[in-house]
Amino acid sequence: MARKKYMLGFSPELVNEPIVYRLVKDYDLKINILRAEVKELGGRLLMEVEGKSPNIKDAVRFLKETKVDVKELVNYVEMNEERCTHCGMCISICPVEALTMDKIVWKVHYDADKCIACGMCIDACPPGAMTFRI
Ligand code: SF4
Ligand code: SF4
Repeated sequence: MARKKYMLGFSPELVNEPIVYRLVKDYDLKINILRAEVKELGGRLLMEVEGKSPNIKDAVRFLKETKVDVKELVNYVEMNEERCTHCGMCISICPVEALTMDKIVWKVHYDADKCIACGMCIDACPPGAMTFRI
């Protein structure tokens, strides 16, 4: 079994299509939706996919053929060290303790391996130091 994370971009005409349903039914994948946004110009979906590697590969091919913009995410949220003021506001917001305070130097540390890209710190950070890397 393999597990991967993808950011999908949908044009307005694809937003109401049962694409996630097709991924589950036709490719036997487990889908965990981490974040979803629908706007006038289309939608974005951040999801974690679990399944057999060939099935994931076929599913990605299906998405591309359907004109869904597909990007595999490896390290998908990043901290801009220059912008961060180490105010600590994001620490209690993060549901997986990916943001912690280093109490020796009193600086906030971001652990990308723990991050599930929920986006909560992005919305909460006053200077916009946390961003999606797409
Ligand atoms: S909320 Fe933003 S500025 Fe404050 S510690 Fe977190 S990333 Fe840095
Ligand atoms: S995106 Fe979510 S999981 Fe990742 S560091 Fe921010 S709050 Fe934590």
